[in-house]
Amino acid sequence: MATDVVTDEQDETDIAAEAPESTGAGWDPLAWPETAVNPVQVRWRYAVGIPAVHLLACLAFFPWFFSWTGVVLAILGLYMFGTLGINLCYHRLLTHQGLTCPTWLEHTLAVLGVCTMQDTPACWVAMHRIHHKHSDHRPDPHSPLVNFLWGHCGWLMFQNREFTNVHDYQRFTRDILRDPFYLRLERRENWLKIYLASMFVFFAAGFVVGWPLTGTALGGVQFGASLMVWGVFVRTVLTWHITWSVNSVTHVWGYRNYDTSDNSRNNFWVGLWSNGEGWHNNHHADQRAAAHGHKWWEFDVTWLTIRLLEKLGLAKNVVRPKVWQQSN
Ligand SMILES: [Zn+2]
Ligand SMILES: [Zn+2]
Repeated sequence: MATDVVTDEQDETDIAAEAPESTGAGWDPLAWPETAVNPVQVRWRYAVGIPAVHLLACLAFFPWFFSWTGVVLAILGLYMFGTLGINLCYHRLLTHQGLTCPTWLEHTLAVLGVCTMQDTPACWVAMHRIHHKHSDHRPDPHSPLVNFLWGHCGWLMFQNREFTNVHDYQRFTRDILRDPFYLRLERRENWLKIYLASMFVFFAAGFVVGWPLTGTALGGVQFGASLMVWGVFVRTVLTWHITWSVNSVTHVWGYRNYDTSDNSRNNFWVGLWSNGEGWHNNHHADQRAAAHGHKWWEFDVTWLTIRLLEKLGLAKNVVRPKVWQQSN
């Protein structure tokens, strides 16, 4: 049963492994966000940054910024950065320890996650562990039972009272911050610098290819800009809404395979567009399992990727769903 208080003595792996007891007792949707953010403190960086990146992505509506290469990079990027970086690394590997990878691969995947601008691995992991610990109960940082918009992205724009200082960070992420690599990402806005560098790489690659192809420097600038707008801004916004829909949609609409003590659901559409994260009721019932689709038709691209890595010897200690083990 999930404990109410996590002490420093408690092994952080307990937090990752905790599964809510299936009491069927329901949940207590309380008067958020007032209680979750008291006093209300706006996180300006997010409140300004999130709309700003949406505006930059809107450049895609101007034909000058269009290229088919950019569109293809945006689609491939959803898998590369969203599925590999967020689903596989941030979520199933770092938060829930459902598998292990060689350190070089884990860090590479984490950098892909950083390039989605969803905060540092430690911050993401901490928020998600709080979510699992208190799912749809106060102080779950992003329950859509407050209201849908709050669960989707509103929560990002306000300071969570559970998570205001370094000690809170460390409480939930000692296992992550023990690695100097993740600690470095926390310091001097290094994670943000990586995101900005990725913008530059997309632009520069387009410029270097576009200049000789079009014969003009302006042609190079235009091609570079198209790769940056589609391959970075559009892809970032789509990745955000895919991840956010797991927090919002799959705690409101869908079916339940398990009688968990939260409002988590399996949602077919979110399962599809998130490459497997939408089987969220399964995930809440068996959090460490690296596979979120438990039935044969619950298609889970992230799990297929993990299976491939396992076959290649690049993923080990892969945790299977308990329900599969019981049926064997
Ligand atoms: Zn999770
Ligand atoms: Zn959830």
